[in-house]
Amino acid sequence: MRPICQNCSRTWTWWDVAKNSFNIRKYIVCPCCQVKQYPTSGTIKFDFVMCYAIFFVFLTMVIRLDSLIPPITVLVILFGCYQMVYPFFHRLSNTKEGLF
Ligand SMILES: [Zn+2]
Repeated sequence: MRPICQNCSRTWTWWDVAKNSFNIRKYIVCPCCQVKQYPTSGTIKFDFVMCYAIFFVFLTMVIRLDSLIPPITVLVILFGCYQMVYPFFHRLSNTKEGLF
């Protein structure tokens, strides 16, 4: 299920979310109504846990293996897979929510 704008109820496309996933701003402007949409606290927590898990796998492989090639390859693959599914777990809010 893709995110839905809480202002105009438009379902965002996968690309709408994916192209803004590298955005350093804390909000994404809805392409339909031009209103700022913020990630929910659940989305922020999920993103944090997933990035931490990917980094943990990378760090474990770096410690256990002599070469950096396999950990970097796995890091790129896992991060790429996460970027592919990220838009399906992204939820939006009209207001900026705290982490807790
Ligand atoms: Zn909208």
